[in-house]
Amino acid sequence: MMANANLWRALCLFSGSRGFIRLGINWRRCFVDARSICPGTDSPRGTCGGRGLGRDAAGFRQRTNHTRALETGAPRRHFSKSSLGLSSATIVNGTAINTGVYPDRSGVLANHDYRSEIDVKRSIDVENARVVRKGDELSGRKYIALPTIAELIRNGGGKTTIATAKTVGLLFDRHADPRSGQNIFAGDSASPEAITEIVKTLGAFPPATQPADRDAWTTKALTDFLWEKGIPQFSLLWLSEPDDTEHKTAPGAPTAMAAIKSADHNLARVLAALDQHQAGSTTDIVVVSDHGFSTIARSIDIPKILLDAGFDAVTEFTSEPKAGQIMIVGNGGAVLFYVIGHDAAVTRQLVEFLQQTDFAGVIFTREPMDGTFTLDKVRIDNEHAPDVEMAFRWNENKNQFGFAGMIDADWQRAAGKGTHATLSKFDMHNTLIAAGPDFHQGEADELPSGNVDLAPTILAILGIKSPEAMDGRLLAEAMANAEPLKSKTETLEAKRKFPGGTWQQTLTISYVGSTVYFDEGNGGLIR
Ligand SMILES: [Zn+2]
Repeated sequence: MMANANLWRALCLFSGSRGFIRLGINWRRCFVDARSICPGTDSPRGTCGGRGLGRDAAGFRQRTNHTRALETGAPRRHFSKSSLGLSSATIVNGTAINTGVYPDRSGVLANHDYRSEIDVKRSIDVENARVVRKGDELSGRKYIALPTIAELIRNGGGKTTIATAKTVGLLFDRHADPRSGQNIFAGDSASPEAITEIVKTLGAFPPATQPADRDAWTTKALTDFLWEKGIPQFSLLWLSEPDDTEHKTAPGAPTAMAAIKSADHNLARVLAALDQHQAGSTTDIVVVSDHGFSTIARSIDIPKILLDAGFDAVTEFTSEPKAGQIMIVGNGGAVLFYVIGHDAAVTRQLVEFLQQTDFAGVIFTREPMDGTFTLDKVRIDNEHAPDVEMAFRWNENKNQFGFAGMIDADWQRAAGKGTHATLSKFDMHNTLIAAGPDFHQGEADELPSGNVDLAPTILAILGIKSPEAMDGRLLAEAMANAEPLKSKTETLEAKRKFPGGTWQQTLTISYVGSTVYFDEGNGGLIR
């Protein structure tokens, strides 16, 4: 899938595209870093990733041959497949990583949704500090309904450090107590004094136009300040690259490649800091991306299209919403539709309209309807879920840089740029590499795995039990003396006949034991 084999070898990239997180674990200590990775062979540390997306198992094996991943001398393991906690969006996956459960149980089902109890007129950013505070107030501190990795570790008497260049970090530990749980996110901190000290030395958190500088600042804050007194049981570093640059350009753009390299340099800094603390050989490291990436073929102006079709549909209400109005919430590769009052006739008309467009990929509905899947099929049926959610259509065409994976997407970014959050295999498959004393070395894992598996795996390594069962599983096949596991895959199909053709959509799901993974989904009107 990589456009150019030489490039592949030379850079040894995880293209990531596609965005990564790397997570680490140690048996007394655990380190997690988001979004980065991969290193080029010119990196002194020489870690390396692959282009997670859409890469088949053989591709992964090939990459493994060229990889000196996490050159700490520690064992490493590559996972061949890592589907996401449903929607291929950052905050959803951050929460899945964080809690080990899918959105139906965590409460976070999209980066942006509509909650009239928080803002009756506008959609919300789910990780916004004001929204989180209000949500916790309204729910008795259950804005995220289950405890996070950091909370569980701290409840057990351990210490944790969260350092993220993006706002997602707040959700990892939103009630952090600076004595045992440090948390800085996008230049802010859970306890105001924590960030003040760092800013005194590192200067202000760089502006949003400089994502690589933001990443370097956050990495330095982790290694030079937050780890100053020692490495805690669990650390998370979440970088904004290559996601930020891939949005502004596209997967495979020269600047996107440079962004991956910058992430690699930050990883090298982290590994060097671990060594300085004599923690390199006793720390498990997991590198994982939160989602994949695609290139926008067409930017679809859903608000205008629905208005033109006669729907009373808006992205912001100007007065108290009325039954039958539709709140449209764009999430890049997916759109959420909230039908006020759950008006059944309007919902049916909306779904029938979408099924006859040339951009709808997979449609989910709160109530069962012909030619849709219900929200529970992808584990997003919670009280904040929309009446209708649509993932855009995708294909395997290549972009202007020769990278496969094109999608239609919402009106917020132009054609030719990068985005994600569809059910495209290029969005849904990401990167996961684990290295350290608890993992087998030099193997590619053929079994499905996903972001929900990280919390159970990390907590098991640290010997911490969650009071709640998690949806993810311990990645036992990557660890010592594991029983052989089997996976199975099925494809669901839904159809609806129209005078002009038959709408047909599919969703491919894999299972390992009771853990479910969403591989991909797509649809179209067959004439
Ligand atoms: Zn993104």
